[in-house]
Formats: sequence, structure tokens, C-alpha cells
Amino acid sequence: MAVVTDRDRNGGFVRPLSIAESVHERIYERIMSLEIPPGARIPIDGLARELNVSQTPVREALTRLEREGLVQKAHLIGYSASPQLTRKEFDDLYKFRLLLEPESARQACLNLTPETLARIEGAASDMEKGEPPVDRNSRYSRFARADAHFHDEIMKVADNATVRQAMNDQHIHLHIFRLMFHSRVTQEALEEHEHLLAAFRAGDADAAYEAMHDHISRSRDRLVAAFE
Ligand SMILES: [Zn+2]
Repeated sequence: MAVVTDRDRNGGFVRPLSIAESVHERIYERIMSLEIPPGARIPIDGLARELNVSQTPVREALTRLEREGLVQKAHLIGYSASPQLTRKEFDDLYKFRLLLEPESARQACLNLTPETLARIEGAASDMEKGEPPVDRNSRYSRFARADAHFHDEIMKVADNATVRQAMNDQHIHLHIFRLMFHSRVTQEALEEHEHLLAAFRAGDADAAYEAMHDHISRSRDRLVAAFE
């Protein structure tokens, strides 16, 4: 069996994945890329056969994906991919982000140390490096996770556990990135992250607020096309 590897979130080094992790990864990418479309049933036995593994790691992966909000389990029906966000849910989610993230960027800027700035910069550069993605699916799901990690690093430095938990509970990036699967998002988002980093480096908390507000507003405007 080929060894699947991934970048470690903390250290940035490459480590082998266990079978359970590798199965999770493969189902995750199929859901993120819409190869398993929103609302579609996910039969455990069929998936286990296709992935050539026993049902146990598939069940484990689905349990984890349920916690992450990407699949749902219904009595007698079993697992299915979560439905795509509705327009209302999308609007609510972006209002929520705009309430919390710009202010968190301001707080993070006020709390920054050389070490925490380096961590945030490391998370930002993780989005641009790494091995070339094997296909479109892995490109998008990798970007989704790297972006979530970057935003979470800022939340950590902002140091409000309640706000950070509220953000994480929404699994925002997982849902958003299913929406944007067919759009060109990555390059523009990277440029916006650069503006934010420039504000952090300058220690300008108001500029950090503005840069995050701008990033999230633009992200909303790019994605809203998915509903048209
Ligand atoms: Zn971002």
C-alpha cells in the first residue's frame, strides 16, 4: 500500500498516515470536491469495498466527519453528505465571521510577540508551499485546511477561548470550500492574507482590523456567485 503523507500542522514535517487517517482523508476529499455530492447517501459497505479496507476504518472516518459537520447520520437511513449551505445560512455565517474575525485580528495584533508573529507567518506560507497537489481535489481540500489553520492561529493569539470555540464549532471552512469548488479563490485570498500580515508586522491594530474585514467581505463576494 502506498504511504500517504501530510504536512503536520504543528511542526510542518511530513509523517505517515495510519489506515484510519488515510481513509478519513480520502472520504474527506471526495466530499470536499463534491465527488460525493451534498445530500448523497454514503453506504459503508460500498465505500469499504471501493477503498479496499474493512468497514471499521470507514465507520471511524464517518463518525469523525459527522463531528466535523460534513456528514449526517439518520436513523435507518445511515450516513449521507451534509447538504450544501443555503443562501440564508451562508449570509448568516458571513455576518458571524464579520462580527468576530476583524476584532480578533485587532486583538491578535495587540498581543503579538515575535514568536507568535512567526507562527502566523508560517501558517500563511504553508498555503503556498508543499508538494504540487496531485489533482484538483487535493488542491482545494489542502487549501481549505491551510486557510482554516491560518485563521485559527490568529484566533489563538487573540486569546479569547470563547470566541475561538464559537468559530471552530461552525466548521466554516469545510462548508465554504465545498461552495467554492469551482471558483478561483486561492490567489486573491493569498494576497489579502499578505495585507493582513503587513498590518501585523507594522503593529497596526486598526489596519489589521480593516485587512481582516476586507478579506472576509471579499471572500463572501467571491463565493456568493455559487448561489447565482
Ligand atoms: Zn483566509
